[in-house]
Amino acid sequence: MNAIATPPREESAERRWARFKPIVTGDDYVASLRNRPVSVYLFGELIAEPVDHPIIRPSINALKQTYDLATEDPELATAHSDLIDAPVNRFLHIVGSPGDLVAKNRMQRRMGQLTGTCFQRCAGLDTVSVLHSITYDIDAKHGTTYHQRYLEFMRHAQKNNIVLGAGMTDPKGDRSKRPSEQADPDLFMHVTRRTEQGIYVTGAKAHMTGGLNSHWICVMPTMNMGEKDKDYAVVGMVPGDAAGMTYIYGRQSCDTRAMEAGEIDKGNAKFGGQEVLVVFDDVFIPHEHVLMDGEYEFAQEMVARFTSYHRASYVCKTGLGDVLVGAAATIAEYNGADQASHIKDKLVEMTHLNETIYSSAIASSHEAKQLPSGIFMNDSMLANVCKHNVTRFPYEISRLAQDLAGGLMVTLPSEQDFDHEVAGPMLRKYLMGRANVPVEHRQRLLRLIENMTLGRNAVGYLTESMHGAGSPQAQRIQILRGMEVERKKGYAEDLAGVGRNEERV
Ligand code: SF4
Ligand code: FE
Repeated sequence: MNAIATPPREESAERRWARFKPIVTGDDYVASLRNRPVSVYLFGELIAEPVDHPIIRPSINALKQTYDLATEDPELATAHSDLIDAPVNRFLHIVGSPGDLVAKNRMQRRMGQLTGTCFQRCAGLDTVSVLHSITYDIDAKHGTTYHQRYLEFMRHAQKNNIVLGAGMTDPKGDRSKRPSEQADPDLFMHVTRRTEQGIYVTGAKAHMTGGLNSHWICVMPTMNMGEKDKDYAVVGMVPGDAAGMTYIYGRQSCDTRAMEAGEIDKGNAKFGGQEVLVVFDDVFIPHEHVLMDGEYEFAQEMVARFTSYHRASYVCKTGLGDVLVGAAATIAEYNGADQASHIKDKLVEMTHLNETIYSSAIASSHEAKQLPSGIFMNDSMLANVCKHNVTRFPYEISRLAQDLAGGLMVTLPSEQDFDHEVAGPMLRKYLMGRANVPVEHRQRLLRLIENMTLGRNAVGYLTESMHGAGSPQAQRIQILRGMEVERKKGYAEDLAGVGRNEERV
């Protein structure tokens, strides 16, 4: 059992912040995750210290890189915060201009290049932006004080340099029923009671990227809500170690390779992603950290704004695409095939696809529009096009990388066989490529491509690309809504000289 005492359930907002020490370096970040009173289940066991678990640690390393990058390249990964009048990690920066969004995208691409996986901090970053404008709009309509609460929360968040996770996706139960119609009310997160000090919530958040690696989790609605769903229209900030929370760790393809000896067969021994199911059982949120409670008519708009930001954040995958283009080119070189024209052409194709994703993301940021609260939001159409590209192109880029890697990628014997006194010399003799390239280099590149296209980080590069920030159909619905086909029919009718149907204009 976990020996560290859980904080009292009704812990005040002040005490919740008093438990944090400002984080500066990546090492500070890792230290901040140690000795937390969190209940984490993995392989049917309660994990004593997640930081030291071989499957969990690579995901912590990936998030740590967001701190290291801020130290190593502050121009790229920090920004000046007017809120606290100091530089802050860009993952906590409130976007004040289209330029801020472009800078964010550049940082995300760089992070993808450095980690080759999902670094887990962007959904929280995009939540920061969404909450600025949505709390402002709710206050304008209802006379509430959510925006001030939000700003106060962000002051603490920026000063302490915390990781904010986004708890958005409810399990949803029967998809044909509204939240309030479900047989089990907990299938959507909801307020169970309200006291003078705050509210209590019960439910779960699924597919939570980096949930366990976050210091705070923002719980928020996953879809539009009606009047009967009022108790489900809730937004609140919860410390990751609050009383009543349980984490159940998601499995990933080939994750047990992290538990094997050696590092070559892991493909990317240092970095990995993380997805968890987080269960909230009567979790208390003090009023200071409640940012929506019952204003159901804003749930849909909140989700729409989140997707406008977050679907452009999937520019992260271009950084992973850069790694894969590089890996494919390198293995072709090791194989002695790099001068073949069809190899070059495949690398061109991979690059074209990757840069197409990048162009839609960057364009979406450049075309950002200002909201009433003063901050800027990505162009929705272009963000949806970006994410839709991401549901497809990484698969084709992966196919081409596998093509260039050759079949050895999936027939390669284990690292332990290479170390064996009898099998090892045979493998080094017969798996030699170009004479001046050690066999181990070939092994490592093949394992990296395997890792990103079939193994653990294929979750981050492929399936997360498919389903993260909404599955492909979700983007097609937004594209349908925004495509203004009637206006476009008018252009055609004008030019064709058939007379404009004025009703359409
Ligand atoms: Fe960031 Fe990409 Fe991971 Fe989402 S999938 S958290 S955008 S790295
Ligand atoms: Fe994601």
